[in-house]
Amino acid sequence: MSEQVLKDGYGRTINYLRLAVTDRCNLRCFYCMPEEGINYVRRSELLTYEEMVRLVHLLCELGVEKLRITGGEPFLRKDIMDFLRMMSKSALKEIHMTTNGTLTYQHIPVLKSLGVQSVNLSLDSLDSQRFFQITRRDSFQTVMKTFHRLMEFEIPTKINMVVMAGRNTEDIIPMAGLAEKYPVSVRFIEEMPFNGTGDTPVEPWDHVMIRNRLEQHFPSLRKIPTKPGATASHLHVDGFEGNLGIIAAYSRTFCGTCNRLRVTPKGVLRTCLYDEGVFNIREIMRQGATDTQLADLIIDAVAHKAKDGFEAESQRSRLSESMSTIGG
Ligand code: SAM
Ligand code: SF4
Repeated sequence: MSEQVLKDGYGRTINYLRLAVTDRCNLRCFYCMPEEGINYVRRSELLTYEEMVRLVHLLCELGVEKLRITGGEPFLRKDIMDFLRMMSKSALKEIHMTTNGTLTYQHIPVLKSLGVQSVNLSLDSLDSQRFFQITRRDSFQTVMKTFHRLMEFEIPTKINMVVMAGRNTEDIIPMAGLAEKYPVSVRFIEEMPFNGTGDTPVEPWDHVMIRNRLEQHFPSLRKIPTKPGATASHLHVDGFEGNLGIIAAYSRTFCGTCNRLRVTPKGVLRTCLYDEGVFNIREIMRQGATDTQLADLIIDAVAHKAKDGFEAESQRSRLSESMSTIGG
């Protein structure tokens, strides 16, 4: 297989893989999972370590340069550090992780030594009671310890806060304050209906409302340039160490520059967060497909990628899955 580039029908180059390594989680974030959790995928249905390694090597040959390991909670997977070690020796140019920060602390020195480029830490409130109400678990102090250790090890960190009416809008300004003191990017994310129930948020807070709230408090707030393919609109406030970001995940304002491919814990390829999945890579691998056959299927799927998240959503049944089965 010769080295090539994955391009979709709109000329977008796809070079970023988001791999959800498990759907299991030890938190129960209100916006992601019902209190009773979800029916986890059987272990035999998960992509194995070897299958994940094969997939990443193959995608590197198709031009993928950047990997984000996500989940569920990726640190619940026992072989995650071995996988990360293997990935650090691959042709990937960048490796990133998204974590809820509850099981991350002890691994931070190794993340640093393996050259993990950045960690996205989910943190929806700086108030321990509200944190508990949102995540349904008492892990606030543990997550904050993780945050401070990430700072100590100088690992570039992004804070992800899902903004929800009636739950944490009073946290927007204090959370932004983290970027005043620390060199972090604090990103405010619109809530999406991937909560495992199919219910849509009653009163969604969109990117305009978030920006207005920030502007009222920080008059020097201004837009700064973003990297190609970024989903966040980046903002800076005078005197801040770090930056702010707003991710219009539900309004989907950024699809025009999408460079992503997603693979779920079961091995389903999704060419858009909002699609229902194109085909199951694990099944194709277990049926004995060669790398060339698998590559051809991926190239074809990317070529037929939806124009944007609205088109992808219009071609599927109702959104009802948990984000832990997609990876965010
Ligand atoms: N468990 C890890 C964590 O929470 O960081 C990784 C997986 S989690 C599914 C990835 C990201 O998706 C998190 O930042 C989380 O806040 C975000 N997310 C989950 N459900 C969401 C929803 N319904 N709307 C918007 N963002 C969501
Ligand atoms: Fe778990 Fe992350 Fe979903 Fe929260 S957002 S329940 S931490 S997978």
